[in-house]
Amino acid sequence: MPAEDPPTPAEAPPDEAPPDDEAPPTAERPVTFAQGTSWTQAVAMFEANVARTREALRQREALLDELEEAAEDAEEDAFSDADPEVYTLACAACERQLSRRAQSVSLVAEAATKLYSTDIPSADIREVAGERTIDTCECRICSVQCGACDAVCGYHVVRPCSPCGQSEHNGHFWLFHAENVVGTQRLDAEDEPMRWSALPYNGVEEAPAEEADLCPVCAAPIMERTRVLAACRHEFCFGCISREVDARGRCPLDRLRLDRSMLERI
Ligand SMILES: [Zn+2]
Ligand SMILES: [Zn+2]
Ligand SMILES: [Zn+2]
Ligand SMILES: [Zn+2]
Repeated sequence: MPAEDPPTPAEAPPDEAPPDDEAPPTAERPVTFAQGTSWTQAVAMFEANVARTREALRQREALLDELEEAAEDAEEDAFSDADPEVYTLACAACERQLSRRAQSVSLVAEAATKLYSTDIPSADIREVAGERTIDTCECRICSVQCGACDAVCGYHVVRPCSPCGQSEHNGHFWLFHAENVVGTQRLDAEDEPMRWSALPYNGVEEAPAEEADLCPVCAAPIMERTRVLAACRHEFCFGCISREVDARGRCPLDRLRLDRSMLERI
């Protein structure tokens, strides 16, 4: 190992920093004026100094306000991502209400594309036969029509591609093009925007009949009773089993493979 050079002694700092006429005066270095400075000049310099200090303080305050606002906005965004606002959707062609539980979303692939999404289809929308691959990824979709006027208003993701299936997903497989529907923000009893967490899990907003059986998924009385047309013939709320079929394609109790044609409303 080569011997290290002896460290060169650092240059000793000067005892005193050279006087700097530009630096603002401090308690240790009070304002001094060159010989021959008149009173008027001295006052003018003093006033200019005060004005500069005021301006610096004003800028600092403005910056602090801006930072505070940005922090509040970020908090609000995080909140609305976790608990989005709820929209009703009506068909743009005939005004039939198509959903009372929709979110405003933009596609990950194309942020410019505005859509609405829902997790439970209403009885007023209909799938159009014929599966195809969507343009933006490998998801398999079929078109969705307004049940009243047949206008195509969106699509149903029948089989998500693996990147979409693995990514953070809001669990909504029914999507509506913003140009084919009219979205209206829902308000709660206090006239505040209604949040997703206020919606019933099974999608039914009426009070349940008292002695209904309990749904194995949501553990509340079964609403819009729907039977699985498979060997098990299990029964659930329509919303609960509809969502299971979209997300996993299986009966949640015994893992039997299911598709939508095997759901019977009873
Ligand atoms: Zn319509
Ligand atoms: Zn996909
Ligand atoms: Zn249920
Ligand atoms: Zn089953």
